[in-house]
Amino acid sequence: MLYKPTIGLEIHIELNTASKMFCSCRNDSSEVEANRNICPICLGHPGTLPVANKEAIKKLIKTALALNCQINKQSFFERKNYFYPDLPKGYQISQYQAPLSQGGYLDLKFQETRNKKQTKRINITRIHMEEDTGSLIHPHTINIGVGVNPDGADYSLVNFNRSGVPLMELVTEPDLETAAEVKEFIKELQLILKYLNVSGANMEKGEMRCEVNISLAEKGAKEFGAKVEIKNLNSIVVAGASVEYEITRQTEILKKGEKVIQETRGWHDAKKITFSQRQKEEAHDYRYFPEPDLPKLVLSDKFIKSIKAELPELPSGKRERFKKEYGLNQGDIEVFVGKKELSGFFESTISELREWIGSEKEKDLKETEMKKLAKTTANYLINDVLGQEDEGRNLKFSPENFAEFVKMIYLGEISSKIAKMVLEKMIQTGNDPSNIIKEGDLSQISNISEIEAIAKEVIKENSKPAEDYKKGKQASMQFLIGQLMAKTKGKASPNIAKQILEKLLKN
Ligand code: ADP
Ligand code: MG
Ligand code: ZN
Repeated sequence: MLYKPTIGLEIHIELNTASKMFCSCRNDSSEVEANRNICPICLGHPGTLPVANKEAIKKLIKTALALNCQINKQSFFERKNYFYPDLPKGYQISQYQAPLSQGGYLDLKFQETRNKKQTKRINITRIHMEEDTGSLIHPHTINIGVGVNPDGADYSLVNFNRSGVPLMELVTEPDLETAAEVKEFIKELQLILKYLNVSGANMEKGEMRCEVNISLAEKGAKEFGAKVEIKNLNSIVVAGASVEYEITRQTEILKKGEKVIQETRGWHDAKKITFSQRQKEEAHDYRYFPEPDLPKLVLSDKFIKSIKAELPELPSGKRERFKKEYGLNQGDIEVFVGKKELSGFFESTISELREWIGSEKEKDLKETEMKKLAKTTANYLINDVLGQEDEGRNLKFSPENFAEFVKMIYLGEISSKIAKMVLEKMIQTGNDPSNIIKEGDLSQISNISEIEAIAKEVIKENSKPAEDYKKGKQASMQFLIGQLMAKTKGKASPNIAKQILEKLLKN
């Protein structure tokens, strides 16, 4: 019997606004001193009044538009009532009946989908606005691994710095089916949030927190199976691992003819398993009701339009553009899509090269030649620069210098061996390539008669490949050039070497 997994995600995202959601306290996750960014509003003192943070609402709308969601011009806040020590008001201000946005989607591109489809659409149910809770610290759990200290006195500490930080909750439809899809969805969402500059979106830091809902049903069954919700997933890897674990666990239960219990489970990171935490609360347990201290949120078309106009290029747009304009392969494109500084550097280099080729080449050649230059630029940036300079941030050399370097390779003025040495120096010193070549005795042997003499030696020592070339075997030329480059320790200009060898072997 085969079972089909059904998966939906609930994702909480902390917005990177300057201040909190309903008060003017600083929103600063790097604050190390506990209870420093607090005030009567985010401590839930009676008689205080919340005021909604416009910047946070803007950032949510930005995200919603980027995810193709509908923006509700009228929405309102509600109180979600429950008791927990990190929630001083006894309720969380959230949205329930009327969220700020609903009905969007995100297309996944790279998975091996069924039916050989290129993309898979994951529908987004809603994105709504709420506030974060404080955070609890359990000193004894950390220190001695159990909840009670040796004196028998057990306590926890509470830090309200995070209390009232703007939080956006995104809920997907149950459209996901595999761990790979879950991981790709989270990764792509993270990228989008970073492009929009709405959140750090770092799961390890808790800026983005993901809950996985998963059920299994017999293939072809009309109804979903019982749903399990998994919490405490603090990385993409763990989210994927929890899905794989649950698929195995639930399959075994169903195979035995037993029923999966609908419940909330936690992830045990040391054991790499999920474990039962509690039976799920029903929604009405929270006694949602409209927040009486905040007015309805009414948005004008003009306001929404102005946010739409500010949307930057998104990862999917960048992928298409990099493919169309530069003809790069998918692997290189993904590196650039994930690394903002490096791809900015790449594009600055390309615009230098474009100017140069524009004045050098005939029009119809430009496009293909540009792609060659782009490929060379990408190769050296990704394979050589990125290997040494983490993320390609703070490079010492300029795009002008790098364009100069790429030009030299393109024109065959330097061999790939010299190129590597020059680039090494550029990374270390930031010096420009022509200076490095002059100063470092890396200059090319471009004296024709000198190269000709060496070429004659090469032909003499390799008479068989030379004869083969004369008979029409083109590959032998590459071999002969290689021999010549070896003899000159890479200092000959490969272009001139080729011309001379061809001339000598003409008849
Ligand atoms: P609840 O009221 O229990 O929170 P929701 O309907 O709000 O449930 O859905 C919460 C999340 O669970 C959503 O991401 C949704 O896509 C997902 N979900 C709903 N039903 C299932 C199911 N049978 N299997 C897996 N995921 C599901
Ligand atoms: Mg829910
Ligand atoms: Zn405050």
